[in-house]
Amino acid sequence: MRRPIIAGNWKMNTCRESAAALIDGLKSEAAQSRSDVEIIVCPPFPYLSLAVSQAAGSCIQVGGQNAWHEDSGAFTGETSCPMLKDIGCQWVILGHSERRQINKECDSLINKKTHKALATGLGVILCVGELLEQREGNQTEAVLEEQMTGGLADVSADDMASVVIAYEPVWAIGTGKVATEDQAEAAHAFLRSWLEKRFNADVAAATRILYGGSVKPDNAAGLLGQPNVDGALVGGASLKPELFNPIIQAGAASVA
Ligand code: PEP
Repeated sequence: MRRPIIAGNWKMNTCRESAAALIDGLKSEAAQSRSDVEIIVCPPFPYLSLAVSQAAGSCIQVGGQNAWHEDSGAFTGETSCPMLKDIGCQWVILGHSERRQINKECDSLINKKTHKALATGLGVILCVGELLEQREGNQTEAVLEEQMTGGLADVSADDMASVVIAYEPVWAIGTGKVATEDQAEAAHAFLRSWLEKRFNADVAAATRILYGGSVKPDNAAGLLGQPNVDGALVGGASLKPELFNPIIQAGAASVA
């Protein structure tokens, strides 16, 4: 059985005080859902250490929203995987569509970052997803195939134990426009069959595939109830405990 993951991508939001308050606001739900669901928060870099200390003693895990693929050196403005590990992060989001679009990250760069994160002992949440025009042009599967092939190039079946895929249709991110349950399930089933072809049946059966794109308390149960949806990567609704906690509950209920 795949243990669901509910991950919050805070993007470039919060401050010291609100970051601490947000984690405090998740702790009691986290304590109740502890064994049913994995909970990850991904604050901005300046608040990662604070998040790690604030989450100490709870089951809330902390991840970075990005990382560079070298250990150290002249890479102004970048943060390395060993740095994330050093301050207590367990995860890193890679290939988020905002980084693909705004920062022009390509699959080969994302692949280098994936290798470095895995070699460092971080879990990777690898984001893939199509643009609206690609969906409308019937290219969704081709785009997913390309991003998975590029992002996971030379990653071994063993390493896949530390990789989570997040299917995030770009047209649904931050738009309030959520994929239907059928659209999400179809994309997730395609990704799982891709994993079986590229790796093997065990990897396909074990890899968690999260849905991301305008997940809210009122649509979470339906999405998370789909057989191939193993959790959610949540942006906007992860910034408020009163929205994120019910999504955690929906994740826990999806395995009950
Ligand atoms: C995201 O940024 O990964 C995301 C899914 O955002 P939102 O939930 O706001 O659509």
